[in-house]
Amino acid sequence: MKNFLLVGAGFSNAVIARELAEQGHRVTVIDQRNHVAGNCHSERDSETDVMVHIYGPHIFHTDNERVWNYINRFGEWMPFINRVKTISQGAVYSLPINLHTINQFFGKTCSPAEAKLLIESQADMSISDPQTFEEQAMRFVGKDLYKAFFYGYTKKQWGVEPKELPASILKRLPVRFNYDDNYFAHKYQGMPKEGYTAIVKNILNHPNIEVRLNTAFSQDMKAKFDHIFWSGPLDAYFDFELGRLGYRTLDFEVFRAEGDYQGNAVINYGDENVPYTRISEHKHFAPWEQHAKTICYREFSRLCEEKDIPYYPIRLVKDKALLKQYVDKANKETQVTFVGRLGTYRYLDMDVTIKEALETAEHIKEALASNQVLAPFYVNMDV
Ligand SMILES: Cc1cc2nc3c(=O)[nH]c(=O)nc-3n(C[C@H](O)[C@H](O)[C@H](O)COP(=O)(O)OP(=O)(O)OC[C@H]3O[C@@H](n4cnc5c(N)ncnc54)[C@H](O)[C@@H]3O)c2cc1C
Repeated sequence: MKNFLLVGAGFSNAVIARELAEQGHRVTVIDQRNHVAGNCHSERDSETDVMVHIYGPHIFHTDNERVWNYINRFGEWMPFINRVKTISQGAVYSLPINLHTINQFFGKTCSPAEAKLLIESQADMSISDPQTFEEQAMRFVGKDLYKAFFYGYTKKQWGVEPKELPASILKRLPVRFNYDDNYFAHKYQGMPKEGYTAIVKNILNHPNIEVRLNTAFSQDMKAKFDHIFWSGPLDAYFDFELGRLGYRTLDFEVFRAEGDYQGNAVINYGDENVPYTRISEHKHFAPWEQHAKTICYREFSRLCEEKDIPYYPIRLVKDKALLKQYVDKANKETQVTFVGRLGTYRYLDMDVTIKEALETAEHIKEALASNQVLAPFYVNMDV
């Protein structure tokens, strides 16, 4: 039996904690915040009674049956389909760009085959080897759709011109030639009936797990444990000694109203001159509940400064070079495994986070059974 310290009580460490506890180890989970569930934390707003996703809207979606079965062990999940709208150039459209969006945008009544031809005629075929996000989008959908649905939103989201972003951000053709407006093309999609925090609390509810909130990590804790799982920022573990990895952070302007404010959970704002990227109306994430009042988050994206919450890893060339240096340093550690979105400096959806956490716990089990030293990373950190 080992004695493990897990820093951070988000999905990554909650799942690892549970698996290690079930393997018979003693596990202590700490978090500097006053709640578990990390950035997925949700709580009821005292004024409206609406369940609010405190760090921004979270929709669970996956194709992974193992992950879906796993989270269903820890609470009830309600059916939820995310249907996103966007306001652009004075009109409301449905996203992702689908047949309805195309027909509305061009004022046509195209069939799927006609729409394909129309988009092909818009696409900039002179771009043979797209290098930037802008070139990729122009090549896929052409200038008009790019300007309406990608340019302003992406610029606000990342704080740079889309021609400075790599083409890899837009991997596939972002267009559907049917009327399917389900934002996520995954087999399973849902919302936890009592919120994400209740699910994470249930995952952590095991006699071998002790949770300590309002507790930040300090180096002297290391002596008391056999091994540490670190789900905080990779650079923070090393006290930022090589510099700071770049992140985007979010500011939320919270407002309440009577009744229904926008009639949908998420509405994006595609125009560059609107300073926010989207508005989330939280009661629409729980359509099975009734509330007289409503609470909304207007979302602004900006560069993450020292005191801000890191949300999205930027991963541009400069960050990747620094990441490589931190990975080299981390690879010399023998008492720490770096996990999760901050520990490995990657954007991870919840389902991927849980899948990786389950796999990490399996690797730990195998390593301990064969007396190996536990690795600093159990995911591919090639930069
Ligand atoms: C705005 C936004 C929207 C998202 N929407 C979705 C979505 O719709 N669907 C989806 O699947 N995924 C979504 N995600 C991704 C989701 O948030 C992550 O998959 C998930 O939070 C990863 O869990 P984690 O445990 O790795 O990290 P986190 O949830 O960030 O947990 C890390 C924890 O470590 C703690 N910590 C850090 N440093 C220390 C320290 N020194 N001492 C003690 N504690 C520390 C932090 O307080 C935090 O609680 C979204 C992410 C963002 C940013």
